[in-house]
Amino acid sequence: MIGILGGTFNPIHNGHLHLAERLQQTLAFETVRFIPAAIPALKDMPKVSAKQRADMVKLAIVDHPTFEIDTRELERAGPSYTIDSLISLRKELGDKVSICWLIGFDAFARLNTWHRWNELLDHCHFVVVKRPHSEDLTWNAEIESLVELHQTNNLNSLKNSGSGKILIQEIAALDISSTEIRKNIASKSNVSDVMPSSIINYIQQHQLYQ
Ligand code: ATP
Ligand code: MG
Repeated sequence: MIGILGGTFNPIHNGHLHLAERLQQTLAFETVRFIPAAIPALKDMPKVSAKQRADMVKLAIVDHPTFEIDTRELERAGPSYTIDSLISLRKELGDKVSICWLIGFDAFARLNTWHRWNELLDHCHFVVVKRPHSEDLTWNAEIESLVELHQTNNLNSLKNSGSGKILIQEIAALDISSTEIRKNIASKSNVSDVMPSSIINYIQQHQLYQ
């Protein structure tokens, strides 16, 4: 069973790392793969290049032996659609392995805007975590019925099948976002407690987010 954390990682922060660590402990993933989006389909193009965002992910996970970076979205042209990554992961890993896509409530609430969203659960499970402030978000009817059809509270059922389930997992998520970090760096506020020092050094060295 593996966990996947897709994101823009603009930049990666302790909220991402904490999410991956906690869910790895709870669900006993063999590995967690971080997949940076090269060209996010639903966001403005990041000013920081995909290569630099991926470099920061690499730096952030260097001390985690079971965390890996997966750069397949950097190697494709066009928008970085999750469905394409899942299909290529399936080719690599086979049909049987359990693939758990880790996702915050905010991103999951908009899942029905993703390219070919109806097919995603054919290839993975979703493990959804609440982020601070996500209580304000509501689910639309499409997400509501997707959850109704696929939700499980049984961790083992994620292990015993390759795809198709939604688990909503309570973790104490950290109140950190890349948006806030970008603003704080631009206004020269302190970001030392929200991301690893290696990332702060990288950002300074490359003069990002100024
Ligand atoms: P931005 O503010 O630019 O959107 P972000 O902090 O939301 O950045 P993303 O790269 O968009 O980071 O997030 C990737 C995934 O990680 C998403 O599923 C998101 O919900 C989740 N995530 C991000 N930050 C946290 C956090 N602090 N706690 C739990 N999940 C998080
Ligand atoms: Mg986000």
